[in-house]
Amino acid sequence: MSSTSNHPAVRLQQISNHIATKKDTGMNKSADRILVEDDNLDHEYLPILGSNEFRFASAKLILGANSKAIAEGRVGAAQCISGTGAVYTGAHFLSKHYPIKGAACYISKPTWANHRAIFEGVGIPVLEYPYWDAATKGLDLKGMLSCMQSAPNGSIFLLHPCAHNPTGVDPTPEQWRQIADVMEAKGHFTFFDCAYQGFASGSLTKDAFSVRYFVDRGFELFVAQSFSKNFGLYSERAGNLTIVAKTPAVKNRIESQIAKAQRAVISNPPAYGSRIVSVVLNNEKLYSEWETNLASMANRIIDMRKALYDELVRLGTPGKWNHIVDQIGMFSFTGLTTPQVKVLKEKYHVYLTDNGRISMAGLNSQNVKYFAQAVDYVVRN
Ligand code: PMP
Repeated sequence: MSSTSNHPAVRLQQISNHIATKKDTGMNKSADRILVEDDNLDHEYLPILGSNEFRFASAKLILGANSKAIAEGRVGAAQCISGTGAVYTGAHFLSKHYPIKGAACYISKPTWANHRAIFEGVGIPVLEYPYWDAATKGLDLKGMLSCMQSAPNGSIFLLHPCAHNPTGVDPTPEQWRQIADVMEAKGHFTFFDCAYQGFASGSLTKDAFSVRYFVDRGFELFVAQSFSKNFGLYSERAGNLTIVAKTPAVKNRIESQIAKAQRAVISNPPAYGSRIVSVVLNNEKLYSEWETNLASMANRIIDMRKALYDELVRLGTPGKWNHIVDQIGMFSFTGLTTPQVKVLKEKYHVYLTDNGRISMAGLNSQNVKYFAQAVDYVVRN
């Protein structure tokens, strides 16, 4: 017989203790410590739709503490396998129950590669709407709106509420108003995928603007939420699908169908990451520490954008570079071509995706000049 100390639960507890006692004053570690000291904590299953503390704190985070929809009891939530699982869960539900048979899901061109895979995987046809304007290196609002206009009524549109991946280009509040006008007039269904709340502007409220605006206008919608980036919980798979329905009865029916489907795929969502998130979201002191951490990360990225822009201007690098400071969030679509990216990799050992997307988080005050010089070289040669 194996000794008790080899039991997986004991081992997990030892790992948790190890993490929690490491000298780190970070907010996640404070949450870890609270969990480790909780004698009531065990490794029992969570309910099928996940922990209530977690899913309703997540819904409140994206919709706002004073959300009318929450007060009216028409907001549901399902804890999912991170943001990917939340998109999948919503897509799977739509594939079974969306009233317009054969309706397509429109995704932005370009978008996070998994969007197509997830929707096609559940049998929903995928089409693209224009988003990136290569000429202005900004939003192709005209193209986006005209695609929404010409799509069949009641199509599904997948929208990034903030920090669009991969372009870093977000609509302004006025542009969101125009987008909502067309979405409403055409009876399209809005599916928000929110993987970066707090990372774009540094304000959790500002980054939720589009979602709250749509909800205030009376849209029924889904929001997939990921806590991978804003909590640094990548491997813990903490995510949520927030459901905003017209009435509490509709919300109940959607939740019960999602629970039925979730039972067949994962039975119960994983607990640890969601516990960290709910400890922080439900604790005033930790929440405000988390907000401060997010703002400092977002501001560091904004500072790096400015430093890169200033350096390219100082070097007189051919072309316009204002998009570097106009874009927002972790990613920037530089406009560099695939052959230029190849030279960056081979000659300068600067690695980025072939479509010219860089992760701004990879730049710091030590390497930003080197990167600007490398860009200057590839643009000139
Ligand atoms: N949606 C978008 C737009 C993303 O960029 C990501 C992460 N790259 C996700 C969803 C999902 O991430 P995760 O499953 O790790 O939460």
